[in-house]
Amino acid sequence: MTEKVVFLTYRCQICNRFIPRTEPFFEGTLELVAGTNQLLADESTPERIAAELQALTVAIEKADPRKLEEEVYLKRQFRLCPMCRQQLLTHLHLT
Ligand SMILES: [Zn+2]
Repeated sequence: MTEKVVFLTYRCQICNRFIPRTEPFFEGTLELVAGTNQLLADESTPERIAAELQALTVAIEKADPRKLEEEVYLKRQFRLCPMCRQQLLTHLHLT
């Protein structure tokens, strides 16, 4: 009985090309957390704050829960070829 050996090949998730088994590949995790630079103005009154919170509540109720969640927190894992890794690092000014 012969055993069949299966080699996994992966695709780069940016350029979509198969990464040959002779090349290294890179696994990454992208994690984006929303921040805000919107501060309540010093002149805000309790009524204005209550009105802003009410408007925010209405907006949240109308929003798609999945989309809203991803606007606040998004995590994705991906696999890259060496060329796309280098381009990503350059694009993010990490080289
Ligand atoms: Zn690539």
